[in-house]
Amino acid sequence: MSDPLLDTDLPVVLHEVHAAATPYLEALTDRPVHDPATASLLADLSGDLPDKGEGSVAAVRRLLRIGTATATNSAGPRFYHFVIGGSTPAALAGDWIASMLDQNAAFRASSAFATEVETVALHWLRELFGLPEGYGGALVASATFANFTSLAAATHWWGERHGVDVAADGIAGLPRLPVLSGGYVHPSARKALQMLGHGGQSVEVYARDAVGRVDVDAIERRLASYGGPAVIIGNAGEVNAGDFDPVDELADLAERYGAWLHVDGAFGIFAALSPRTAGLVRGIERADSIACDAHKWLNVPYESGFAFLRDPARLGRAFGMPGAAYLPGPDDPGGGYAMLGPESSRRARSLPIWATLAAYGRAGYQAMVERHVDLAQRLAGLVDEAPDLERLADVPLCIVCFRARPPGVPDSALDGLNKRLGEALIADGRVFAGTTVYGGRVALRPAIVNWRTTERDIDQFVATVRELLADLTP
Ligand SMILES: *Cc1c(COP(=O)(O)O)cnc(C)c1O
Repeated sequence: MSDPLLDTDLPVVLHEVHAAATPYLEALTDRPVHDPATASLLADLSGDLPDKGEGSVAAVRRLLRIGTATATNSAGPRFYHFVIGGSTPAALAGDWIASMLDQNAAFRASSAFATEVETVALHWLRELFGLPEGYGGALVASATFANFTSLAAATHWWGERHGVDVAADGIAGLPRLPVLSGGYVHPSARKALQMLGHGGQSVEVYARDAVGRVDVDAIERRLASYGGPAVIIGNAGEVNAGDFDPVDELADLAERYGAWLHVDGAFGIFAALSPRTAGLVRGIERADSIACDAHKWLNVPYESGFAFLRDPARLGRAFGMPGAAYLPGPDDPGGGYAMLGPESSRRARSLPIWATLAAYGRAGYQAMVERHVDLAQRLAGLVDEAPDLERLADVPLCIVCFRARPPGVPDSALDGLNKRLGEALIADGRVFAGTTVYGGRVALRPAIVNWRTTERDIDQFVATVRELLADLTP
């Protein structure tokens, strides 16, 4: 039997990708976010597993043809749903290099290069956000995994307070971990607690209104009456309106009652980059753990999150893998980030982070964040001017929460109308934004975090929303 891998067309395959990349990426500026008419092409992916493969060039051509036609163009400037971000040129190139070098960033012994890049990338991220020197962390796959990593360290701390080594003995003999938060707590924090065996229901929500603003006094009463070790989750940037819990006040409580303060700053931590918005995250430098995403506002490819710990040694205690003779021990100089987070073998996701920070620096990212903050204000202004739109929240950062409210439509019909508007936007494809429920009302909540987004994209978004709304309200 012939072995096709011994006779590959590597230069041709790489050339195919390179030749497709430039036109695809340059067209993102003008392309719709998705083209529903191309969906039928997805059928070209399937069929039975081939016995004799078609060869690398043909396979890669097919993937490129289907991918460039059917992909959601969320890397472009008008995808406003979910807080997504794109990929800067340097980050994209860094990601290609990560695949080219195919390093295992588990241990210094498997790649001294990847371990060093990760160390520098974490150091730069810490400086970018102005966190104090002692903070250290690990790169993980996402903010969900950063919440998981942080809350695993918190679990280890909490076990210690009860005299139990959770890494060795688990949590079965312990009381339920109390996790206190406001209504802004992200579902991924619950998911992390689910994965850690605490159960998503361990989150106790203390909110003072329908929107979910945290009730700090109620959290304080709970801490005072409980008396034992608890975890507080502060939310720095919630996904409906981009609002912030008062992290400083939560840090005061954590100090006073000996609680662990975890802050979910998936995208909100980027407020620290501009003096105009830094006040929103005041106090984050007092957190015990912080969860963030790089694949959102840093604009690097998926999968890229990071967790910062005030006492980074806790990561080794929670995630070390003692026992296998062929693996480095916890104090071994051959050790590495596999011992500091949930994954073992892992790709060198530090390369795009390093590349983009080296390329654009602190000032480049400050300028981008400030552009996005200005664009959010522009969008808020356009919503305020439009007779058929109604803004539902202040705009502290990069998300504008609003709904359609054309004159003459009764209040009771607005939720249905806005739901249909969200569906119409997604079906139309020129821009992308979906609905949420904010304070009991169906609303749109576009987030502006893509490096490509400009005023033109904001104006086009509002024009498209109003055009589709006019079609829905004869
Ligand atoms: C996006 C987000 C998450 C989850 O991030 P993933 O990268 O999707 O896992 C968690 N918290 C907040 C506040 C977010 O915005």
